[in-house]
Amino acid sequence: PTAAPGDSARERQRLQQAVDQARAAVAELTAALNAEPVAADIMEFQLALLEDADFLAPAFAAIDSGAAAEVAWRAMLDAEIADYAAADAPAMAAKADDLADIRARVLEALCGKPGAKPLSVLVPNGDVIYAAGRMTPSEFLACDPASVRAVAISGGSPGSHVAISARARGMPMLVNCGRKLLDAPSGACALLDAVEARLIVHPKASHRAEFRRRFERYRNQRKQLNRRVNESAFTADGERVTVYANVDDPSLLADAEVAPFDGVGLARTEFLFRGDAPPDEDTQLAAYRAIIDWADGRPVTIRTLDAGGDKAVRGVTVHGETNPFLGLRGCRLYESHRALFDTQLRALARAAATAPGRLKVMIPMVTRPTEMARFRAQFAEVVAGLKSNGVDCQLPALGMMVEVPAAALEAASFDADFYSVGSNDLIQYAMAAARDDPRVAQLNDPRAPAVGGLIRMAVSAARARGVEISVCGDMASNPGRVPLLLEAGVRALSVAMAGVAEVKQAVRRWRPTAVTDA
Ligand code: PEP
Ligand code: MG
Repeated sequence: PTAAPGDSARERQRLQQAVDQARAAVAELTAALNAEPVAADIMEFQLALLEDADFLAPAFAAIDSGAAAEVAWRAMLDAEIADYAAADAPAMAAKADDLADIRARVLEALCGKPGAKPLSVLVPNGDVIYAAGRMTPSEFLACDPASVRAVAISGGSPGSHVAISARARGMPMLVNCGRKLLDAPSGACALLDAVEARLIVHPKASHRAEFRRRFERYRNQRKQLNRRVNESAFTADGERVTVYANVDDPSLLADAEVAPFDGVGLARTEFLFRGDAPPDEDTQLAAYRAIIDWADGRPVTIRTLDAGGDKAVRGVTVHGETNPFLGLRGCRLYESHRALFDTQLRALARAAATAPGRLKVMIPMVTRPTEMARFRAQFAEVVAGLKSNGVDCQLPALGMMVEVPAAALEAASFDADFYSVGSNDLIQYAMAAARDDPRVAQLNDPRAPAVGGLIRMAVSAARARGVEISVCGDMASNPGRVPLLLEAGVRALSVAMAGVAEVKQAVRRWRPTAVTDA
């Protein structure tokens, strides 16, 4: 990327701050290494470079010609590293590693991830694998995809929101790597394979060759898969399966085609509530319109705010709950935050009027039918209020997430126009195994018969009531788990955008197991 004209001053400042931050970190390390003269010498060399205005000048010059700070820094270091690496004298060649080290350090500072550190600079253009003990969804979203190519977390688990965000973006992420990950030195070279869950720090030449081969094969397979990505999905015996997109950050829509999708099955709205203050009605309306526009005539389901659990929202969620996943979360917060919720409903009712019959709205964490009834009543009140003021609006179809076992068990009793199974939460609540706790990840298993049983109950309730049921939890995005859902009678999936080709392939390969008389 290049910086927009007029942004050079800001980019210069960003680079200067990042260099200063890297210098402070290296100085601290150098001081700590006093007793180890060789290591201290190495760090002194790095420190000297970070303090040398002549050395830094080409990067600032590139910024003045319009480059973004990251690009300018990486380009300058790449050129320097190539010069050093080509030198005949081994001592000179060794300096290339130091340059790679400071390249990573400054890129890390530019990405601004507290608690995380770049682990690797494998690809010779400064690409970084982020290694961190923990990572919150917002820290992940603040990562610059131009430099961060993969993430490794020592804790975490595949069902956590940070892992879901990574899958939506097609960003390779390894979770639950263990504490040893944090011992890897910053700037070390590493290889990460998220398909086979492998992380190799200090790889040998043979590892590199193997990874290159595998990567090439993976790229070719994806190319093949993508050939049919825009075709509708039918099972092997010809049954149509609807495949919607999950949208948790509309900024991703700019680079995404809608053609592979039958619409949006889950738009999470938490992205709107990440700032210091909640968004006003018009800001929300614009955000919902952007999703509707992207869908280009296809149906869109937007979920109202699901704060709580592992998604803290300033001013809304409660601190210090004994068990946030079982506390005030999702629609349980709406009564105490009536004004905030009404604002969201007003924006949604106005958005619905701009796409008649195409916008659907659902609420998260519904447990009892009374909550659905209250939601309906409140939405009707909001619409009546807008209409009495002459505002163009519409009451959209109202549905619910099925993510609490109680709701799955009595799904037929809810006055819902449609259902959407949130398997991430349904599994954690059914198995009593937190989705973000790696120690119980084994129990958090979508293949457990109890999970299948709950999904089947919800499917049969939807069928009996003649309304749609889809699955928007991560299980629907996992090609290995799609057959389980189809077997349970699900015919609508809402999936992480980056994985749609694999999901459609899984649908095309599936045919119902023949039932034979004994
Ligand atoms: C789910 O629980 O499966 C779901 C889709 O909602 P979230 O992951 O946002 O909790
Ligand atoms: Mg959920």
